Amino acid sequence: MTYDLLLKGGHVIDPASGRDGPADVAFKAGKVAAVADKISEPAKETRSAEGFYVVPGLIDLHTHVYWGGTIYGVDPDKLGHASGMTTAVDAGSAGAGNFRGLVDLQQSRTQVRLLAFVNLSYPGIYTDLRAVNVGEAEEIRHLNVPHVVKTLKTWPEKAVGIKIRVGRSTTGALGAMPLHLAINASEQAGNAPVMVHIGADMPPRLEDILDPLRRGDIVTHCYTPKMNKPLTTKGQLRDCMVAGRERGVIMDVGHGAGSFGFDVCRTMLELGFAPDVISSDVHLYSADGPAYDVLVTMSKFLCLGLPLVEVIRAATAAPAAAMKRSDIGSLKVGSAGDAALLKIRKGPVVYVDAIGGEMKADQRLVPRGVVLHGKWWSDGMPPTLKGGK
Ligand SMILES: [Zn+2]
Repeated sequence: MTYDLLLKGGHVIDPASGRDGPADVAFKAGKVAAVADKISEPAKETRSAEGFYVVPGLIDLHTHVYWGGTIYGVDPDKLGHASGMTTAVDAGSAGAGNFRGLVDLQQSRTQVRLLAFVNLSYPGIYTDLRAVNVGEAEEIRHLNVPHVVKTLKTWPEKAVGIKIRVGRSTTGALGAMPLHLAINASEQAGNAPVMVHIGADMPPRLEDILDPLRRGDIVTHCYTPKMNKPLTTKGQLRDCMVAGRERGVIMDVGHGAGSFGFDVCRTMLELGFAPDVISSDVHLYSADGPAYDVLVTMSKFLCLGLPLVEVIRAATAAPAAAMKRSDIGSLKVGSAGDAALLKIRKGPVVYVDAIGGEMKADQRLVPRGVVLHGKWWSDGMPPTLKGGK
């Protein structure tokens, strides 16, 4: 057999298969074709991966990449080059009324894989909270359950779940009620996961957001430093967070421009509350900092003490499982032919959280190559951490 691409001599970290050590990886026809200590069959293209970690193409479970479709969206391919992300999961930029445009974006302009949570709100996140400050889910007439169900059934390969932003600025006087509509839509659509965002301001309270969630639903902004923070005033985990984790609710970072704080996160990590999924919540207001992309967000967790393999798991196997997608997030034979070559670059760096908090650190993950659909796609862009000093 002649492979399309062979990566030789890298250190493979593939949490889904438990592999963590030197190995060659070969790709053919857009898929992973072989992983072994030594692969000696020929390949059309062979690249040395010596000195690099070879990991499954990164999955960012919370992005806003409806580029051109909403003011909020950023270019997913640009993120892919800078971070090794090969799957961008849009978190509710589009609703049933404009989801088709996101599917078209993939077909016409975007190379990295696009998946999306459909917003319960028919127009999706059409405002940006700065120029136009109207919550997308505060108007009951926007919350049309049958159309959400229909969208999930029309594009099963693209639509992975339902998004609802629950908070004072997004659901307004409706409080947490739209979350119950989202769960109802999920039940009608084969229990697709619901991703809910923790609004910064009350009401509703954190309990009203967490308690309705079922096993496999996702809560994003789980380290929010704002009013609805997951810690008590005494610095203990709030009961609804503990109960949610025990119930199997997936805890997602969703860094963004206002939803991640080092102090809250550090305390929660000390209490043993590591994230299930590390995502960036990258959008117009977070792409140039403080979130940047999923790799910078992963670097922050590496520097906060999470082991490298867990950091990789949280952006590969874990988000794939959260979406019930067994075809991505792994380097198992037959998986999508997506991979990232990463390196840990040593040197002083100052990370910034979403409320201006700083963390001095001495390492960051940098991309040194991206494989997409079984082909060498990118050499990786030079580090662009503008917040770094
Ligand atoms: Zn978001």
